[in-house]
Amino acid sequence: MKALQQAVSCLDGYDPDALPVETARAAIRSVIVPVSANERVAARASLGRVLGEDIVSTVDVPAHDNSAMDGWAVRAADLRPDGETRLREAGVAYAGRKFDGAVAPGECVRVMTGAVMPAGTDTVVIQEVVRAEGGRIVVPLGQKQGQNRRLAGEDLALGRVVLRAGHAVRPAELGLIASLGLAEVAVRRKVRVAFFSTGDELASVGTALKEGEVYDSNRYTLYGMLARLGVELVDLGVVRDDPAALERAFHEAAAGADAIVSSGGVSVGEADFTRELLGRLGEVLFWKIAMRPGRPMAFGRIGGAWFFGLPGNPVAVMVTFYGFVREALLALAGRSGDCAPPVLRVPSATALRKKPGRTEFQRGILERGANGEWTARITGSQGSGVLRSMSEANCFIVLEHERGDVKAGDPVSVQLFEGLA
Ligand code: AMP
Ligand code: MG
Repeated sequence: MKALQQAVSCLDGYDPDALPVETARAAIRSVIVPVSANERVAARASLGRVLGEDIVSTVDVPAHDNSAMDGWAVRAADLRPDGETRLREAGVAYAGRKFDGAVAPGECVRVMTGAVMPAGTDTVVIQEVVRAEGGRIVVPLGQKQGQNRRLAGEDLALGRVVLRAGHAVRPAELGLIASLGLAEVAVRRKVRVAFFSTGDELASVGTALKEGEVYDSNRYTLYGMLARLGVELVDLGVVRDDPAALERAFHEAAAGADAIVSSGGVSVGEADFTRELLGRLGEVLFWKIAMRPGRPMAFGRIGGAWFFGLPGNPVAVMVTFYGFVREALLALAGRSGDCAPPVLRVPSATALRKKPGRTEFQRGILERGANGEWTARITGSQGSGVLRSMSEANCFIVLEHERGDVKAGDPVSVQLFEGLA
C-alpha cells in the first residue's frame, strides 16, 4: 500500500466512496507538513504573512511607569487618611518631556497622559477632582495608591515571547512589532500554488463562445480565493480533456509549486483517465465525499506538490475550496492553531429539506429581522451550477452529516463568508 493511502486509511470512518467531511479534513490535516523556509521582510510587508520565528521583547513597553490620565502625580504616602491634602506644585511633566527633579514630601507634579512618572511619585489624581486654592493643589479624600499609573512593561515585558512563530500578522501584530522598534521580521516564504481548469467545453474570456461552450469561470473564482489567502499564484490556464495535455500540465505544475488546484475531471466518467494518469505521476486518492455540493474530489501528492482535484461545477469548486483547500494551504503556509472559521448557531427562517448521511453547504443569507433577532434563510436555487447563489449569499448554512429535515425556527450552523473569503 502506498504511503498516503496508508496514512489516511487508518482514520476513523475512512471510506473513499462515502467519506464524511470531517474525516476528509482530518486526513488532509494529518499529512500536510508546513513549508519551513523563512525570509526577512520590512515590518509593513509582513501584513497577512505568517511569522517564521518567535518575537521576543528586547525592551519593556512602555519603557517607564507613566501617567494614564491628565492630572497631578503625588506621593500616596503624603495623602491624609481623614480629609483633603494640600500639596505644592513642583513642576510639570508632559508626554515625551519629563520632570527632571525629585519630588519631595508635600509636593506634587502636574502630569499629562503618557508623561513619565516623576521620581518619588506613585499615584495620579485626575484633574477633574482637584482644585487649586491659595497657591496649593487640594486633593480630596479617597485616592488609591498606584491609581492611574501604567507600569513599565505592562504591555510587553522585556524577555517575554510576544508573538510565536506560526502567528498570522494582522493590524494589531503590525502595531506590536512597531512598538518593539523592529523594522524587519522573519516570515515564512509564500506558498506557491499552480491552478488550472480542465474541460473541452471551456472557452477563455475574450474569445467568442462556440456552440456548447461555457466560459471558464472557475479559474476566476479560484484566482480570487487563492489571492485572498496571500499565496503566490501560477495560472496554467485551461487544459483540454486529453491525457497528453493533462500530463504536461501536471508536470509543469508539480515542478514549481507547493500545491496544485484543478477543477473538473474528477466526476464519474472523467475520473478514470485522470486516475490512471495521476497514478503514474504520483499518489492521488479519489474520494466521494458525503457532502453536497462537491461530492467527487481528489487529493494527493504529485512530485513535490500537494494536489487538490476539485469538481467542475462552479459552486462545488467554492464549497470544496473553503471546506478543504483553504485550511490545508494555511497549514502549509505555517499557520499554527485552528484556522477553521467560527460557526454560529441561529434559527432557520424557513423549513429546509435535508437527507441524513451527508453534510450540506447551503448558500444562505444571515440577516436581522425587525425584532432585532438574527435568522438565516437560503438563497433561491441551490443548484451546484448556480454561482449566483454564492454571490447572493453571505454565509454557508452548514447542515451536519447526521441531520435530517429542519423545521422553521430550528437552530442551524452558519459560517460567515466575511473573514472566510
Ligand atoms: P466536470 O466536473 O468536469 O464534469 O464539470 C461539471 C460541470 O461544471 C459541467 O457542466 C462543466 O461544464 C462545468 N464546468 C467545469 N469546469 C468549469 C469551469 N472552469 N468554468 C465553468 N464551468 C465549468
Ligand atoms: Mg469536465
